[in-house]
Amino acid sequence: MKILIHRGANQIGGCITEIQSAAGTRILIDLGHNLPGESETLDKFDDPSNLSALLEGVSAVIYTHNHGDHLGFFDRVPADVPQYIGEMSREVMCNILDESLNKAIRAKRKPLIEEFVNKAVKIKSFCTYASGRPFSVGDISITPYFVSHSAADSHMLLIECDGKRVLHTGDLREHGFLGKGLEKTLKKHVGQVDVLITEGTMLSRDDGHTKTESEIQADMSALMAQYRNVFVLCSSTNFDRLAGLHKANARFRSRPFVCDVYQNEQFKTLTKYSGQHSDLYVIDDAAVMSLRKVNLHKRMVEKGFTMVVRDNPTFRKWIAYLTLMLDPSQTVLVYSQYKGYLEQQERLQEFVRMFGCRVEYVHTSGHATRKTLAKICTLTNPTTAIIPIHKDAEADFLTLDIPKDLKARIVDGFCCKDGVEMELS
Ligand SMILES: [Zn+2]
Repeated sequence: MKILIHRGANQIGGCITEIQSAAGTRILIDLGHNLPGESETLDKFDDPSNLSALLEGVSAVIYTHNHGDHLGFFDRVPADVPQYIGEMSREVMCNILDESLNKAIRAKRKPLIEEFVNKAVKIKSFCTYASGRPFSVGDISITPYFVSHSAADSHMLLIECDGKRVLHTGDLREHGFLGKGLEKTLKKHVGQVDVLITEGTMLSRDDGHTKTESEIQADMSALMAQYRNVFVLCSSTNFDRLAGLHKANARFRSRPFVCDVYQNEQFKTLTKYSGQHSDLYVIDDAAVMSLRKVNLHKRMVEKGFTMVVRDNPTFRKWIAYLTLMLDPSQTVLVYSQYKGYLEQQERLQEFVRMFGCRVEYVHTSGHATRKTLAKICTLTNPTTAIIPIHKDAEADFLTLDIPKDLKARIVDGFCCKDGVEMELS
């Protein structure tokens, strides 16, 4: 068996892992694009010849979740190579592409319309998998297990072939609403593995004070008690955050929870798939904003509100209009996503200034803390190797609080052991 880390050993975004069986079956786990600001300004796989060379002879591409740094190149995979993702993840992607397509149609931008139609067709052709149900690609068996992450419907993958068991964690955490399940899943379903391929995003970022999503929900609730008018800038697909926010707002019974048509489509998807497991994820009473809905505006001004916002021309129009009617001392903008975006993007800074009110930062990471990473290593107790990926170049797994014998199994470069060839580029 061969494990090739094409990318991710020394950077957070753009993860691509390849697994080859001795019989020659090759699968890719994730096919991500570099994040903005990543070490390579241009992604080398933007060059079609590099991507074709990587995909040559690949039997399937399996995605852990739908973040762009894990699935950015999905539309460039040849039609005869099956691609797999969770069913809800696929629908979330369809919603994103419908929104992009509508925008391109309104702007009459033909090349963009073609691009989004092609992407929508491609994503609809994806095969879907379900947590705990194994499927096979050639002689490789893959079992996905649900994990908590800032993208809903995220999975770690247990790969079995050539008598070896390899766990690829994808992105995951314990401090999300459903994070407690990780330990149970590792103990009950995964157990000991030969090779652990694990994310390490927080290795260089964890200051020991990572908040849980429940604490974030409490912080949101406290701000709602302090301010009548609450704008929240956060990802429309960070469903733990949105569910906590919605729940916090529900305590203030008369206050509408306001969003746009696209966000409401994402809420419908969340309610359809996750709402059946927990009431927390039922968001079916959001008020959809429109400049024509004067009764809604009146209610918002009279009763206060929570409004989920994002930076686009429509929201800019709405914010300019709404802020004319609001008392800035009773209004807050909660910035609830990665701080780096705000530091890097001048346009986003300008959007934040548009609100003309106090700005509060309330956010927590979608990734495993150092404590959780140590727990994953200890519980899976890999016999052959631990391969760290999705981490900063300087982040060092040796600094984790894990036993010495596990530290000795951390791979950093080329290694051939127990019949497994591993290469990190
Ligand atoms: Zn992710």
